[in-house]
Amino acid sequence: MERHVEATTEFLSERQRHQTLGLADVVSNGNARGPLAPTIARQIYSEVIAKGWPVGDLLGSEAELLARYRVSRSVFRESLRLLEFNGVVTTRRGLGGGIFVSRPDVGATVEAMASYIESRGITPEQLFEVRQAIELAAVDLAATRIDADGERQLEATIEAENRGDLRVLAQALHLRIAEITGNRILHLFLHALTLLAEAHTLGPTEQTVTEAEALENVQRIHRAIVDAIVSGDMALARRRMERHLVALVPYQH
Ligand SMILES: [Zn+2]
Repeated sequence: MERHVEATTEFLSERQRHQTLGLADVVSNGNARGPLAPTIARQIYSEVIAKGWPVGDLLGSEAELLARYRVSRSVFRESLRLLEFNGVVTTRRGLGGGIFVSRPDVGATVEAMASYIESRGITPEQLFEVRQAIELAAVDLAATRIDADGERQLEATIEAENRGDLRVLAQALHLRIAEITGNRILHLFLHALTLLAEAHTLGPTEQTVTEAEALENVQRIHRAIVDAIVSGDMALARRRMERHLVALVPYQH
């Protein structure tokens, strides 16, 4: 398992550097560039990107890809495991089988990001710094780009919060704001950050306010943030979000 994690980490960290390599580079220099399986995995990954990530499309049968990449079956299968682990491809056996392009699961992706960051150690101050930067960028863009559909989505999220258990839904509005910016990268990073924030929030018994008070405070400020975004007032939305994030600091460890 440890070797697999290491190989995966290497595959992820070196993706960018090797993305422009041609097939000839990999075949002739594969060993000089480190383990062969991550190298082949990067090549297949580049092939998926070059095709425009066509989810569900057949990349080829195992025999075809073995011939194309000219590696042993064991190396090829190890590279497939890396790609499957990262949600890039799925393998179907039997008649009509082969290696297909798949869509990485966002839950697994953000959980992997959050776990990785946790394993490196984080302080509440670092979490706050990054969360503030991303959240303020999100409200800026949301207030600039808000349209009727975005407004409906924000209102629906506020309604769900008022009906439901806020401990479960507390991050939903933050993610919705990132979502209506239309920037998927922003949304992905905020998703990972909210998982980290949840993991670093004090339990109800450790907090100085009652749960009812905390819920009321959060509902009130969420409402105010949405009002500012919907009216397109970027500066006001930003101030309110900043105040909200600062107010959350005492509840983080
Ligand atoms: Zn909030």
